[in-house]
Amino acid sequence: MLERKIILVLADGLGDRPTKKLDRKTPLEVALTPNFDELAQNSALGLLYPIAPGVTPGSDTSHLSIFGYDPYVYYKGRGPFEALGVGIELAPNDVAFRGNFATLNESGIVVDRRAGRELPEAKELISALNEELKLDNAQVIFKHATEHRFALVLRGEMLSADVTDTDPHKVGERILKCEPKSGKREAMRTAQLVNEITQKAHEILDKHPLNIQRQKRGLPKANAILLRGAGSLANIPSFQALYRIKGFAVSGTAMIRGFCKAIGLEAPVIPGATGDFKTDVKAKAKAALDALEEHDFVYVHFKATDAAGHDKNAELKVKMVEKFDQLVGELMNGLKGEEVVCVTGDHSTPVDLGEHSADPVPLLISAPDVHADGGRFTEAACAFGSLGRLYGRDLIRVLLNQANRIAKFGE
Ligand code: ZN
Ligand code: ZN
Repeated sequence: MLERKIILVLADGLGDRPTKKLDRKTPLEVALTPNFDELAQNSALGLLYPIAPGVTPGSDTSHLSIFGYDPYVYYKGRGPFEALGVGIELAPNDVAFRGNFATLNESGIVVDRRAGRELPEAKELISALNEELKLDNAQVIFKHATEHRFALVLRGEMLSADVTDTDPHKVGERILKCEPKSGKREAMRTAQLVNEITQKAHEILDKHPLNIQRQKRGLPKANAILLRGAGSLANIPSFQALYRIKGFAVSGTAMIRGFCKAIGLEAPVIPGATGDFKTDVKAKAKAALDALEEHDFVYVHFKATDAAGHDKNAELKVKMVEKFDQLVGELMNGLKGEEVVCVTGDHSTPVDLGEHSADPVPLLISAPDVHADGGRFTEAACAFGSLGRLYGRDLIRVLLNQANRIAKFGE
């Protein structure tokens, strides 16, 4: 039997609703998408509920679901995905957090949750924390991500991810005390350690020469850390163990690369893949096509559609849909025409909401022997497609079937 290779191309926050900003059309309907239009002629269409109807996914939970992992079982906080994404090797019992540098005033009030956001000093401040911040019974590892963001990993005995955030999520308040979410000793101990780290980090950062310089230049000091999303690596089976297929991922977004690593996909940093509006689609397509030589499954993630949705910027989202269409075009040019190609989103981020919604996302599956529907790749046209409405948890198996890679159930 001919086993086909599979390429799954996903635009973050792709789905949308008709908006007055676009004459009651969606960005997908307005965008010029010659590559989707051509591909859709030979594709089956449908809609995908990333998790389930009425569930608004985060990118992390939707990715779990779309790769076939029940997020209600396997989602243990976003921290571990961030930490893996920035290149920390995580052990199963490590507790990982997402962190921000922030600005505290003299009275201990958070006056800027991002310490001005532009923080060229971040790497050096991270080094100072790694060198000077020591605990008696646990190891603390900081690693810079982007701008004011970093990952923090706590390593040692008797730790638990069952602790609350210290990030108040708004300015004008004090840093929250980390509390255990359960009465377990591990959680109580971890909360104590997190509070100790927060205090020590403030002492180290507040007097750091780079912060004194920032203050002199009238810039907000990066003199505190805010932590959130505590998590441990769930005992997650690998993608290869689940589906007997070797996978590779292309993404410019650290959290997504971290997720892919957590399920055992290779997910290196690709130069030019930036995860923002300027991302280099040619570089991403080349990396994906190269990977397809050695792997039977390649995942390509495109972030900018979601960011435009969060910005409530309809015009920008149209442009980013067009950029995603170019990415698909670059991929199609390099494929042999024998592969299973799937194009979809991880959730909708309607420009009028500026947030994720529970709306299903358009889904397209192309293969030489697929039943083609011949519509356009839009929310409305996909609603009439022959794939109907699928759930994220079924997607990979549907693709494996189209690729003739599903073993028979029974005799
Ligand atoms: Zn997303
Ligand atoms: Zn989003």
